[in-house]
Amino acid sequence: MTADDEVDHVALRELLDRTAQVTRVWHYIWDGQRGRAGRVYFTPGWGALVGASVGDDPTLADHVVAADRGQLDAIRDAVERGAAWDVEFRLLGLDGITRWARDRGVPDTQDGQVRLYGSLSDVSDDVDRRETIRQIAATIDEYYYTDLVHPDGRYETLFATDAVHRILGPIPDGLPIGDAWHRCVHPDDVALSAAATARLALGEDVTAEYRLVGFDGITRWVEIRCRVFEVRADGSMMLHGVAQDVTARRASEDRLHEIIATIDEVLYTDEYHPDGSIIEAFLSDGWHRLVGAPAGSVGVLWEDHIHPDDRWRGHEIDAAFRRCESVDATYRMVGIDGVTRWVRDQASGYRRADGVIVVNGILADVTVEREAIDALALARDDAFRLSRIDYLTGTYNRRHFLEELGRERERSARSDQTAGIVLVDIDHFKLLNDLRGHGVGDEILQQVAQRLGGAIRSYDTLARWGGEEFVLLVAGVPSLDDLWEAAERLRVAIESEPFDVGGERVPITVSVGVAASRPDDTPKAVISRADAALYAAKREGRNRTHFYRDGSDNDAAGEPVAVRLARVFAIAAGAREGMPENHLEDVAELSARVAGEVGLSSLDAVRCRIAGWLHDVGKVALPERILAKPGALDPEEWVVMRSHVTLGEELVLQVPELAHAAPAVRHHHERFDGGGYPDGLVGDAIPIGARIVAVVDAYSAMTSPRVYSAARTTDAAIAELKRCAGGHFDPSVVAAFLRVLDAAGITRESA
Ligand code: GH3
Ligand code: MG
Ligand code: MG
Repeated sequence: MTADDEVDHVALRELLDRTAQVTRVWHYIWDGQRGRAGRVYFTPGWGALVGASVGDDPTLADHVVAADRGQLDAIRDAVERGAAWDVEFRLLGLDGITRWARDRGVPDTQDGQVRLYGSLSDVSDDVDRRETIRQIAATIDEYYYTDLVHPDGRYETLFATDAVHRILGPIPDGLPIGDAWHRCVHPDDVALSAAATARLALGEDVTAEYRLVGFDGITRWVEIRCRVFEVRADGSMMLHGVAQDVTARRASEDRLHEIIATIDEVLYTDEYHPDGSIIEAFLSDGWHRLVGAPAGSVGVLWEDHIHPDDRWRGHEIDAAFRRCESVDATYRMVGIDGVTRWVRDQASGYRRADGVIVVNGILADVTVEREAIDALALARDDAFRLSRIDYLTGTYNRRHFLEELGRERERSARSDQTAGIVLVDIDHFKLLNDLRGHGVGDEILQQVAQRLGGAIRSYDTLARWGGEEFVLLVAGVPSLDDLWEAAERLRVAIESEPFDVGGERVPITVSVGVAASRPDDTPKAVISRADAALYAAKREGRNRTHFYRDGSDNDAAGEPVAVRLARVFAIAAGAREGMPENHLEDVAELSARVAGEVGLSSLDAVRCRIAGWLHDVGKVALPERILAKPGALDPEEWVVMRSHVTLGEELVLQVPELAHAAPAVRHHHERFDGGGYPDGLVGDAIPIGARIVAVVDAYSAMTSPRVYSAARTTDAAIAELKRCAGGHFDPSVVAAFLRVLDAAGITRESA
């Protein structure tokens, strides 16, 4: 040891002495040789550490409590290794107080000489504090720790609360906590734990939940949250963490999930944030079933799977949630399996203090119920429909008709329109059944229904009244004539063309009864009037329409006033001539049909019918001798005879209801080539009604016996008409007439 060393020593001691007064850290220097005791220097006042009075010079080793003597050995070991030491031991003071001392120092060894530089401080307060912390920490359920993660991945636990023993069970002696922890990770969760470590290494805050199998054999769920707070130059990291035993929570969650999994409904919680974002805070497992996705599927979004036709509902629901309103809606969802399911969505929301709207809802698959309801509704509709439809003809049945009639009467009571009933009965249908069998009868019934259906207005109700009778409810027409026409249309529709049954043409006619409804009628009353009219139509010879009129009027023909007047006039006039009974009626009926065939309106067809009745009415004024003369007339007589057309015109003009027939009456003896009378008109200049009556009159005259000639056969009459077409008769009218005959089946045998 040199003199310089001595000097330095003195200076050092002075420095130490001064700092000790400020820091209350006492320093010592111990000089000695290996294996031998040496000289010790203490800064003055160190005796306070053992409760000594000023001036006392206690020996440190004498005061170390027996239990802590091992710490002195630790110092000796460190010196041996040339390493620093930092130990704590208790000192029993002269004053009887035990204090904690901390001893830190380094050795300096040169040439077998050892010099120790050390310092002592009273850390009783620190130890107390640490003990308090330890005791508190022992009561904390969470396991707080500070770990040093070495570059090789080894965990060194620097600080740990006692909870680690509750989480891991009794850790074997000598096994560092970090190693113990990793050894306990549940085999199935190793990847989870490794992933957490990897994220930590990237400097991320980590939250993870996995299982540990403790040294006591118990499996526990832990939730860890930790963060790296220092990365050192050598690549090691310091981290703080907290781990918590969440086994109980997991168990209850699992139980909850189990419960939720057993219920078919899907529970959800959505958060609507003020910034417009929506967070799906909870969605139970049933969701994947609802959208037809494999179990555990994620990322299947509600709004992507609403049925296109129900998107508007989705928007409505979303809007309701944003307004914090509750929802109870049923709509369709299309799953990723392509299956459409009905879903009932019931939810309600509340606004949290932070402004977020939290919506809790239940989605239930109601497909089965919904389909059952739909099927039920369909079945009900079907049953309802079937209960109102006639099985054979497909028209409505009597029951539906009566209900409609009740409704219609209420409606027409509020308007000044006329409603009415038309009863249609097939003529001689029993005969048809007898001749051709019931199967054909059924087929005819179906075809009749079809034709009638085609001849009504869309808002009129046609029904099968029963047997071979149909009934039409005419909803509202401006006049009685319109009602009569609606009925006539039905009759003409059936008569116009024979029915085709298995390739055979079967002519069918119907008789029609019409009655207008009255303000305080019962359905029964109006139907019974229509029935009376139908009976009258049958009585009058069938294939006709009879209109029910009140009182005395009712016994008349039932047609519009004009037709009835015409008939009365015509029959009166015809009687004088000895006209065969049905000639005039034939002309009237056929004229009307030809009018329809050449495309005239139904009103004009009625006028043609009237003209048919009246064409010879002027003969009423002719002398008997000319009318009844069996042989040919002389020229003078012919002049008189020809006057019947102008006389007839004059007569007809006297009656306003019949005046429209005057031109046809005047001109029915004109010839198409201009050779007729009274005016010698040519072609289209002759009124169409007159051209029609001329053809029909000629045919009827030819085929019925008259005073002056025998009846010809149908064939001969037709041949004659054809021969005269273009000369005497309008060829287009002759053609139309032949079609009418054909349709009525009259030419069938001759064809
Ligand atoms: P009329 O001109 O006087 O009405 O004579 P009609 O033979 O038509 O009248 P009637 O009331 O005497 O006979 C009606 C017939 O209608 C009796 C029945 O054989 C037949 N009929 C009723 N319902 C059906 C049915 O559903 N199918 C068939 N094929 N025939 C039926
Ligand atoms: Mg009948
Ligand atoms: Mg009948």
